[in-house]
Amino acid sequence: MAESTRATTSSEEGRPLPPIGSLTQRQVRGMDCVHCGIVLTAQTAVDLKPRLLRIADRTFTWFPRSCRRHIPPTP
Ligand SMILES: [Zn+2]
Repeated sequence: MAESTRATTSSEEGRPLPPIGSLTQRQVRGMDCVHCGIVLTAQTAVDLKPRLLRIADRTFTWFPRSCRRHIPPTP
């Protein structure tokens, strides 16, 4: 992924997310896994931390979700 497509400015805790410019509308809405794009269900979805997105001079918050494959096991 090219750095020039990176549009997220966030306090990135945990796993870094793909640049939002590379995601589908469904991934941005948390309907699909933000990492691999599979369809999420209430059973498989994991809420990630809210991320800030800057578009022009406005800041939006989005709530990415992923499937459990990408979540490191908690000790
Ligand atoms: Zn996934």
